[in-house]
Amino acid sequence: MEKVKKKPLFELEEKTPSIYSYQLEELKNWLITNGEKGFRAEQIFEWLYEKRGSSFDEMTNLSKALREKLTDAFQITTLKTIIKQTSSDGTIKFLFELQDGYSIETVLMRHDYGCSVCVTTQVGCRIGCTFCASTLGGLKRHLKAGEIVAQVVQVQKALDETEERVSSVVIMGIGEPFDNYKQMLAFLRIINHDKGLNIGARHITVSTSGIIPKIYQFADEKMQINFAVSLHAPNNDLRTQLMPINRAYQLPELIKAIKYYTETTGRRVSIEYGLFGKVNDQVEHAEELAELLKGIHCHVNLIPVNYVPERNYVRTPRNQIFLFEKTLKRHGINVTIRREQGHDIDAACGQLRAKERKDETR
Ligand code: SF4
Repeated sequence: MEKVKKKPLFELEEKTPSIYSYQLEELKNWLITNGEKGFRAEQIFEWLYEKRGSSFDEMTNLSKALREKLTDAFQITTLKTIIKQTSSDGTIKFLFELQDGYSIETVLMRHDYGCSVCVTTQVGCRIGCTFCASTLGGLKRHLKAGEIVAQVVQVQKALDETEERVSSVVIMGIGEPFDNYKQMLAFLRIINHDKGLNIGARHITVSTSGIIPKIYQFADEKMQINFAVSLHAPNNDLRTQLMPINRAYQLPELIKAIKYYTETTGRRVSIEYGLFGKVNDQVEHAEELAELLKGIHCHVNLIPVNYVPERNYVRTPRNQIFLFEKTLKRHGINVTIRREQGHDIDAACGQLRAKERKDETR
């Protein structure tokens, strides 16, 4: 008989779930099912997200019996810091270890408008973008919502020392968030909740490489979250060359999905466009991009990409970056050039993990 090959599940086997994975309503239901009052959920959230408690024992306004029940049922996830790299511009990159030994990256960026955290949603990534170190070694597993929440809490704890606050979150770290859609959505709801981390929807950005069915689904959620699509190419062939996902989800269909998103939500989309020297950074590419985006409610974010050793991609010269920007502007496209941060540390997505955890990224 032919052996049926089991598909890997890419899920964490949890003995005790993380309480950070629970939305307020879910925790209320758990409490009621376990003979407690629902309003205790708000007190627990306050301990977790306002006071940033690290044990149930600290939650002194809960009865001892409830604290014991919580200790038996849940864990308060803490991530072990393996490496913390600090850049001269204040950017901090953390390499965290998860409970099963895998590692993830989380980045704190400081802007004039506040502190933002870039979170990881998967251990590795199966999308295979040719310029990205995060995909080396493929996907190991999806993160649970609680493991994504824990990244923000952990960075906030580091900021507590200087009385700073995480004011925005970007989901642009290792992994494709729409490939871990359910956990990502739970994460969004927890950090956005006013009893949770209370990060305003307009201060949260989720970015996808273009998983089209999920774009439609996300549009229908009608959340006020900022939405970004990594486009990186103005035509189908070039996009396939840079991002193999384009074979499954081709550019014309992706553009249709982006239009659906903007029309359904009334919100603008950010188009992420990495500039790779002599690959996609010529004036004719800018002209083609302007034509592709004509009439779409969007904003283009140009990202000058550093040298990628594995692929021989080189940096676009400064004058060429400005020429590209000018060409888009001439066609009426909203465009900015992303300010580089953490240039003196391994700030590009997945670089630090690839360097430090060769066993995971081969
Ligand atoms: S750029 Fe994002 S989607 Fe593409 S391989 Fe890297 S982590 Fe995955």
